[in-house]
Amino acid sequence: MIPISSVKLGPDVENKVLEVLRSGMIAQGPLVAELEHRFARLQGVRHAVAVNNGTTALSAAIEALEVGPGDEVITTPFTFIATLNAILETGATVRFADIRAEDFGLDASSVEAQITDATRLLLPVHLYGQSVDMTPLVALAEKHDLRIIEDSAQAHGARYEGRGVGSFGVGTFSFYGTKNLTTGEGGIITTDDADLADRLRILRNQGMRARYEYVLAGHNYRLTDLQAAVVLPQLDTYDELVATRRAHAARLTSSLEGIEGLELPRQLEGREHVWHQYTVLLPVGVDRDQVVAALAERGVGSGIYYPKLVHDYDTYRSRADVIPSSTPVAEDVVRRCLSLPVHQHLSDDDVDAVARAMREVLAA
Ligand SMILES: *Cc1c(COP(=O)(O)O)cnc(C)c1O
Repeated sequence: MIPISSVKLGPDVENKVLEVLRSGMIAQGPLVAELEHRFARLQGVRHAVAVNNGTTALSAAIEALEVGPGDEVITTPFTFIATLNAILETGATVRFADIRAEDFGLDASSVEAQITDATRLLLPVHLYGQSVDMTPLVALAEKHDLRIIEDSAQAHGARYEGRGVGSFGVGTFSFYGTKNLTTGEGGIITTDDADLADRLRILRNQGMRARYEYVLAGHNYRLTDLQAAVVLPQLDTYDELVATRRAHAARLTSSLEGIEGLELPRQLEGREHVWHQYTVLLPVGVDRDQVVAALAERGVGSGIYYPKLVHDYDTYRSRADVIPSSTPVAEDVVRRCLSLPVHQHLSDDDVDAVARAMREVLAA
């Protein structure tokens, strides 16, 4: 089976982890600081604060901006559930705006209708590794005096008009096992604001500024040096990883072009896509479950990210703090999306096998 994702860490990671293990300094320490320094550089921001996962990165960022009960956040319904859960964790209320099919990201022209007197924050998600169209969102945030947090969990290194994602507002990233950069579990927050970074460091560490001086009711959101040791060597070769994924995406696109009704993902003008996922929209009317099964019969793994809009679960339906709205583009995309293997461990033959299987299945 050609898997939709694959984690293979090399001897460089093994050696670094062993070094930390043998040092006995396994909790948060100098390697976390090194990771923060290097990650800030990757995204082109002044500060990065590492935390224990991408979900706490989001909730800590929201909390640090002092958004909470009584405040409203506008986000996309087409995202991983963590985006919604992190907002709810802070006590804020969530409204949803529609997305653009061409980049699967929040559509600024749909956001304005969701703004109320209680709105404090826009929370776009850079899905699959490509930046949302930030310019109109930034303009909207300025017009209505709103903050921006960019859920960049899937978009390490992605750029929009030359600037790293997570540099337009506060950025949050995940280092979960299947993300482009991984510590197993982990996350990081990016900002140019020194005071905000300071507040995040305090929130991460039980609200403590100096030893036993608690200036906030905080959390334990710390990442460990053992985890930082896993991802630091990946940063050395991250450009190559992205280049490989980009080449696979281009190869898939040239093999899949011209299939009636099939919409292929594109790297849009002014953006640098890091290809966390290669996600197509199946022709209207095609039975997606059958496509997934037929691909599996041909030895090709695929993934549905995501099968439902986040508010479309019974768990959230009767909550007063989750306010759905009409989002026709997201509703169409959620029914037709299918992600194909694009990761760095595929060979060109694997990529060709994926494309061939897709052609066969859609011709049937
Ligand atoms: C992975 C992911 C998260 C959550 O990150 P974790 O590290 O798994 O907590 C949040 N948002 C999106 C869009 C993600 O893909």
